[in-house]
Amino acid sequence: MVRIYSEREFAQIRKACRILPQAFDLVEKEIRPGVSTAELNEIVDSFIRSHGATPSFIGVPGPPGVKAFPACCCISVNDEVVHGIPGGRRLVEGDMVKIDAGTQLDGYFGDSARSYPVGMISPERLRLLEATRESLLKGIEAARAGNRIGDIGAAVAGHVEPLGFSVVRDMVGHGVGGAVHEAPEVPNFGRPGHGLRLKAGMCLALEPMINAGGWRIRVLADGWTVATADGSDSAHFEHQIRVTDAEPEILTLD
Ligand code: MG
Ligand code: MG
Repeated sequence: MVRIYSEREFAQIRKACRILPQAFDLVEKEIRPGVSTAELNEIVDSFIRSHGATPSFIGVPGPPGVKAFPACCCISVNDEVVHGIPGGRRLVEGDMVKIDAGTQLDGYFGDSARSYPVGMISPERLRLLEATRESLLKGIEAARAGNRIGDIGAAVAGHVEPLGFSVVRDMVGHGVGGAVHEAPEVPNFGRPGHGLRLKAGMCLALEPMINAGGWRIRVLADGWTVATADGSDSAHFEHQIRVTDAEPEILTLD
């Protein structure tokens, strides 16, 4: 069952979402060699709370035998795809760091992610980062009422695969708005014209996870961090959008 949100509900969702681009703009200024991922997490956590919201990823249950997610942000570096746990790791020149954060405000949820260069990064890393950012925008363009879920994934994959990159298959975007994760799943690959038909009022998190090498992933020993199986780089961008009969509204822009 895919929820259709009302105008009044979108007013609430928008408030939860708008905190995120502001938090990202703030934390971006602190991304430099020597900063720890825990310090970056703290900046985002404090910002979200100072705006009356709560970080929505804290306490998300893990797989069996794994502790609940302990931090505000998922912070993943280089070959780590998503769900990295912030800690003492200090970024070094040339890293690519991905920050994914969620908010909850008055029962409504926001979700967004960005990838950042740390200092000067290699042209290969920069190319992956830019291609992933662009693929999200291609996906968003395809996310309008009357189109299908497969059109979104086809647009994302159709942008990055000709560049030699691969799309993570085992992790997908999702519905969001009244909970951290809702139906439907929104894969970053697909067949045009196939899958669930999009309707005005759906609220979706589109989040391409794009690898420089193969698409396969593995989970690290902490039970949370997802990394590429072949050790290649991965980039991630995420926006939460409102599906309309025309251009989607990007809710996680300032
Ligand atoms: Mg996210
Ligand atoms: Mg998400």
